[in-house]
Amino acid sequence: MPSLKIHRNDTVKVLTGSDRGKTGRVLRVFPDNRTVLVEHVRVVKKTVSSKSGKRTKGGIAEQESPINVSNVVLICPNCGPSKVGTKTEGDIKVRICKKCGQTLPTKK
Ligand SMILES: [Zn+2]
Repeated sequence: MPSLKIHRNDTVKVLTGSDRGKTGRVLRVFPDNRTVLVEHVRVVKKTVSSKSGKRTKGGIAEQESPINVSNVVLICPNCGPSKVGTKTEGDIKVRICKKCGQTLPTKK
């Protein structure tokens, strides 16, 4: 299974598009598409219709759409926006900040 260097719950900064400069928490990662869903980034308005018997209110809902992982950069808790590297500690692969060398926490 392919894995991305950006993980769920990471904080990332958006590099391109109308949300350039925004930071947000990664809600989901899609390794197959190399895309991530970032909170409050690339929000699209969707028309929600009330159907199938559920008494949900129709209207406009806002929802994030995935953006390519190459369009975001991880924010290192220690030094800010940075590239992610990896190193192997024993038999565990950990992510490190390429700038300051700090091991990045992997939250599940
Ligand atoms: Zn760092």
